[in-house]
Amino acid sequence: MTTWPQVAIAGGSLGGLTAALLLRDLGCDVDVYERSEAVLTAPGAGIAVLAQTSRYLEERLGMPVDSFCSSTNNITFFHADGSIEKSIPHRYHFAAWNTIYRLLHRAFGDDRYRMGVEVASFENTPGAVTVNFSDGSSRDVDLLVCADGIRSMARAASLPGVKPEYAGYVAWRGTVPESQLSGATYAALHDSISYQVIDHGHILIYPIPDETGDIRPGHRLMNIVWYYNADEQTQLPRLLTDRTGFRQGVSVPPGFLDLDVQQEVKDFASSVLAPQLAEVVTSIDDIFLQAVFDIEVPQMAFGRACIMGDAGFAARPHAAAGTAKAAQDAWALAEELERANGDVPAALNVWQSRQLEMGRNLVARTKATGEASQVHGTFGPDWPTLIFGLYAPGH
Ligand SMILES: Cc1cc2nc3c(=O)[nH]c(=O)nc-3n(C[C@H](O)[C@H](O)[C@H](O)COP(=O)(O)OP(=O)(O)OC[C@H]3O[C@@H](n4cnc5c(N)ncnc54)[C@H](O)[C@@H]3O)c2cc1C
Repeated sequence: MTTWPQVAIAGGSLGGLTAALLLRDLGCDVDVYERSEAVLTAPGAGIAVLAQTSRYLEERLGMPVDSFCSSTNNITFFHADGSIEKSIPHRYHFAAWNTIYRLLHRAFGDDRYRMGVEVASFENTPGAVTVNFSDGSSRDVDLLVCADGIRSMARAASLPGVKPEYAGYVAWRGTVPESQLSGATYAALHDSISYQVIDHGHILIYPIPDETGDIRPGHRLMNIVWYYNADEQTQLPRLLTDRTGFRQGVSVPPGFLDLDVQQEVKDFASSVLAPQLAEVVTSIDDIFLQAVFDIEVPQMAFGRACIMGDAGFAARPHAAAGTAKAAQDAWALAEELERANGDVPAALNVWQSRQLEMGRNLVARTKATGEASQVHGTFGPDWPTLIFGLYAPGH
């Protein structure tokens, strides 16, 4: 009979939770350690949902994707005067980050989801991996899965030469209730992911469920992602310094963006965006910011520990595949552990070679899209990798 491993997971966001659920389903004894003391909320507001992101909810919990995601049927590019440059029929699903988190967290339960516990370090010992916590305690497990995000402690300790590389631009984010938009703007945007290409950048806008999960057209939130070049030395420090004067690391969360910066974004929107898109941006109460980074790693398995999701590769958002990649890392890990009958080092070895290839491809594709938009001015409706996807456009 197979003895399934005891597993510790560092990081209880979408990647960590998906891994926790799948490994527990396999028969493993799983604890999640999440550094945050409060329930996690909306680090990215809206996300485009690829099949891998929703796979656990659909396959294991029997929840049809249309029951928790909003959807649109077109990709529409606007000119600055508000006329349509091109509209392409294509169906996408969208969710609020919170919606997916809430559903996965509820499925895992609170008992073994340990909040306010930070994993500080780990070391491999014969036959186990010792997990050390910030409060000075430690425990031995068979497998440590580090899903601890873009500033991963595990990556920094295991691969000190790998540093997140700033891509040269940030994303302005925010939402506004559809019900607050004018009738004309709602009519133009409600069934599309709406794009506008501007000089050295582009914006996309799509509807996501509201805070209660309401996905009915007219009841949703319009969500923006607007890529804006910001020089690392001369501009980025000001943008990352929040309204309390604190210098944030990679993002400025809702409620904290400097108010002058917020007004500048709205003024810029009024001067360059199509009237319908400008109306959305200028109606947002609380714009926030995420800086964009590339991270490529040469290794994801370290004895009985591994890094997954953004702790491994972090790709620019242009394939909308960040949460799908984290989920796919988790699915592949469960598959390989099952195939290896619970032999952790053997499973991690095969898992790593599969996931390294996926990560490298995604980073290369999203870099090319980012450079086309922010540097070369070649991004637009005919861009060959316009359609979102994890392995390739549309896949
Ligand atoms: C502008 C922008 C737009 C995006 N749009 C999309 C999109 O449309 N679709 C999509 O799929 N993805 C999108 N993404 C990417 C997506 O947000 C990430 O890829 C995804 O959140 C990664 O999930 P994760 O679980 O790996 O890490 P994270 O969500 O970063 O979670 C890491 C968790 O680990 C915890 N943690 C950190 N250190 C420790 C520690 N030492 N001990 C314990 N806990 C710890 C943190 O508190 C956090 O909860 C976007 C990203 C950006 C920047």
